[in-house]
Amino acid sequence: MTNRKALISGAGVAGPALAYWLVRSGWDVTIVERAPELRAGGYKVDVRGAATTVLHKMGLHAAAKERDTGMKQVTYVRSDGRKIASLPADLLMGRRGDDLEIMRGDLGLLLADACGADVVYGDSISEISDKSVTFASGRTGEYDVIVAADGLNSTTRQRVMPEVILDHLGAYISIFEVPNDLGLEREEIMYTEPGRLIFAYAMDADGPARVGMTFASEPLTYDRRDVSAQKDLLRAAFAGRGWRSDDFLAALDDAPDFYFDSLSQVQASSYSSGRVVLLGDAAYCPSPAAGQGTSLALVGAYVLAEQLNNGGGFDGYERIMRPYVEKNLAFGRKMAKDMVPGSRLAIGFRNYGMRTLKFHPRKEQVIDKVLAPMHEAANAIAI
Ligand SMILES: Cc1cc2nc3c(=O)[nH]c(=O)nc-3n(C[C@H](O)[C@H](O)[C@H](O)COP(=O)(O)OP(=O)(O)OC[C@H]3O[C@@H](n4cnc5c(N)ncnc54)[C@H](O)[C@@H]3O)c2cc1C
Repeated sequence: MTNRKALISGAGVAGPALAYWLVRSGWDVTIVERAPELRAGGYKVDVRGAATTVLHKMGLHAAAKERDTGMKQVTYVRSDGRKIASLPADLLMGRRGDDLEIMRGDLGLLLADACGADVVYGDSISEISDKSVTFASGRTGEYDVIVAADGLNSTTRQRVMPEVILDHLGAYISIFEVPNDLGLEREEIMYTEPGRLIFAYAMDADGPARVGMTFASEPLTYDRRDVSAQKDLLRAAFAGRGWRSDDFLAALDDAPDFYFDSLSQVQASSYSSGRVVLLGDAAYCPSPAAGQGTSLALVGAYVLAEQLNNGGGFDGYERIMRPYVEKNLAFGRKMAKDMVPGSRLAIGFRNYGMRTLKFHPRKEQVIDKVLAPMHEAANAIAI
């Protein structure tokens, strides 16, 4: 047992997952979270491969599985809403074994409940000096280890390792809640036109739906705190476009939640500096296109805790994580290219594939082959 003190910035996925392990090995852990409270919902995320082993080790896999989104099918539609093809979600998403899909907020709540650390909401780090940390609230504290688990745009990382760059993958993504006018129930609808992707899904016909709008773009300059400017960027990209573009834009003003960010990766040549270590998206965000960020966060938390406890330290953490991270970053770059097809030809080709797939006598093997790189990336580390 130790009496070491850790400060974790961010109560998303990576932060509470790390706290879970550290608290159990005697660390004194504080998590500081900028948001005023933890919120359920958000968007759905996959947990795959090695990360499911981590959930099992935490004793949380069964609880996470109980909250699985249980999506049944994915339907591709044309601009006028006519169906191109419907396919079983498990087949298309290539879920294997213990893989699961859960709302990010539900997973966050599970982890926060289980972690056993003090979580201070509505505060954040404002200064890190040799000896102490000062918070926006004016509090101060001294810690042996400071963990930046504050996401893609981590301000802790920007403060301590400003040299770490974000690699823009050529698109922006927005997610928000809309009324479930489509009557979706455990179904996801996908619509694509050149440079644009819209997806919408809901778990219950009575509950709200979530819509994602993704558009290809060079890097844009905008104020990250100005939500209404971000909504305007989305309006400019989708006004008058196909399927339900205008209906979804009309719901923007009343949307209770709104996420907007570039499809970006974090490229860090080192995961630590001094007492500060990067974890999860702050260290190696593979972009939402990879669908692997949550898994990296869970596995990274497990490996970091293990290395802090067995003397491997930050170097051991980086040595073990690096090959797994690089595989997932490469996979994310490939998926980002395919996510928003640029031409009608590419979309026509994809639609033809979707229409004919369900009649293919060996469709499972076809999908397995297409998704092999994803499973390879998801399992590229031994836990
Ligand atoms: C649309 C979308 C779909 C996705 N789909 C998938 C998927 O299918 N599979 C998958 O594995 N991953 C997916 N991801 C990625 C996944 O959500 C992230 O990789 C994962 O949540 C990373 O966890 P994290 O804890 O590192 O960061 P986050 O979950 O981003 O958590 C960071 C936390 O830090 C807090 N914070 C931010 N700044 C500060 C600050 N200055 N001080 C204190 N707290 C701060 C934030 O409020 C947040 O609570 C998706 C992401 C998006 C956006």
